[in-house]
Amino acid sequence: MKCEDAEMLMMKYMDGEINEIEAESLNGHLLVCPKCRQAFEVYDSMLSGMSEMETAEAPEGFENAVMMKIRAIEKPEPVYSSRDKFKIRFGGSFAAVLFIGLMLMAYRDDIIGVLSLNQYTAGRVEGLKAFSEMIAMQAETFMMFFNNVIESVNAVLASGSLFIAGGIVALCAVQAFLARKKNR
Ligand SMILES: [Zn+2]
Repeated sequence: MKCEDAEMLMMKYMDGEINEIEAESLNGHLLVCPKCRQAFEVYDSMLSGMSEMETAEAPEGFENAVMMKIRAIEKPEPVYSSRDKFKIRFGGSFAAVLFIGLMLMAYRDDIIGVLSLNQYTAGRVEGLKAFSEMIAMQAETFMMFFNNVIESVNAVLASGSLFIAGGIVALCAVQAFLARKKNR
């Protein structure tokens, strides 16, 4: 399909007059042509902006028909800004890793104790022990680095480093959560 043909089908799509076969071939072109895909995304966001504004006035049948056609063509991925992507990816995983590290540091023996009692998990405890020691070691390395930073910035804060690390966990998690929620 040529780009001009795709353009024409996009107009039909905008008017809600595209049929299933046309939608499919348009979709096929959009998959291979970044230029048209970009144009389509602009049209599509215009269209969804309009249909949002018209929700109150538009007759129900019309609205449903348009929405069904939109869904037939593609399920748009939520559009994350690159800043939000960064927050979700790094904030989320950083919070998770740090949280696990802190939990293991604080409760490692308890966790291993509980798992040893269970017949099913007892056999895995050895592996877990090694794993948790590795994580705890990394967490300790991080805490050491963290302490150095804090000490160099402010000696008063050093005593509360675990608390502050917990605060950073919460902050990362909240940032990731907000970024995700905003784009839902
Ligand atoms: Zn094209």
